[in-house]
Amino acid sequence: MLDGMSAAGFADMCEHVLRLCAVDEHETVCVLTRADERQDYADGFMAAAGRLGASTFQVRMPGASPLNAQATGWSVGTSPLAGNEAAIEALKRADLVVDLLFLLFSKEQLAIQAAGTRILLCVEPTAHLARLLPTADQRRRVETSAELLSEARTLRFTNAAGTDVVYQLGHYPVITEYGYTDAPGRWDHWPGGFLATSAADDGVDGRVVLDRGDILITPFAKYVEAPVEMEIRAGRIEQVRGGVDAELLRDYINAFDDERACAVSHIGWGCNENARWSGLQFDGRGLGMESRVFYGNVLFSTGPNQELGGDNDTPCHIDIPMRNCSLFLDDRPILVDGEFAIDALRVPRGAVLTP
Ligand code: FE
Repeated sequence: MLDGMSAAGFADMCEHVLRLCAVDEHETVCVLTRADERQDYADGFMAAAGRLGASTFQVRMPGASPLNAQATGWSVGTSPLAGNEAAIEALKRADLVVDLLFLLFSKEQLAIQAAGTRILLCVEPTAHLARLLPTADQRRRVETSAELLSEARTLRFTNAAGTDVVYQLGHYPVITEYGYTDAPGRWDHWPGGFLATSAADDGVDGRVVLDRGDILITPFAKYVEAPVEMEIRAGRIEQVRGGVDAELLRDYINAFDDERACAVSHIGWGCNENARWSGLQFDGRGLGMESRVFYGNVLFSTGPNQELGGDNDTPCHIDIPMRNCSLFLDDRPILVDGEFAIDALRVPRGAVLTP
């Protein structure tokens, strides 16, 4: 599972991240696993927590992982903690839970956070974790982005393929992900480097046209090969037109036989300069976080909004990072053709080859 990384090297990375999480000798760190999955990750985090003087323990749940899409089909929202009050209570007693099984979108995760426990999700391959090790500067740029997004009343984004869509903001909070968490009750995910909010439930109108090279992440993990046009009215996707990628999307969404699966979900952008757009092509394992967080992408998504406090808990969720977009908050340009228009968000990036 460590893919050739030594246990000590993995523990070093965990220590870096737990330090950023402000773990110290006054804290208790719980690692949460399922069956025999990621036991080496659990060992690494417990070793790192021990080096920092923290108390540590493991909660190990039975059952197969829903992340194994080949075995179970991809969906979100169920967790092995459901109905297991003893396990939930143990997790609430920790200061930090390292989630190695994927609680995201579950009611149990929200209950644990509400108890003041912070949660760090970590399920990606070690090569991704190492390449996308969080930094304080990424946190600064994600939080600066979040301030801008939380002050805005409208978000509009466009691309050369014909996207022009407007989100009415202000109804839901902004969620940040920068790869670590030091605030009570706050969730994060290593690797991180993006932020998101949702429009009012009926507050998205316009057209989104996925362009060649945009990415359909889970459950597809593929680059769009030809434009896909989506007509959106009052927060609902009404039409999906295009080639085989459009057919794949329609077929996947229709499989849920659920009107709520047609909703538009979170919207935001990526800030991680170490993540590559091309990463999925050379290492397609994991949840596709590298694709979600790469610098300057606009992350469009469909399906649920309960992680932001809404009541749509459809298990049909698709994240779609889009390249070379321009994004405006109340008409102020934040991204222009995929590059940040605000100095505080920009990172110098070298390019040897140009088109
Ligand atoms: Fe998402």
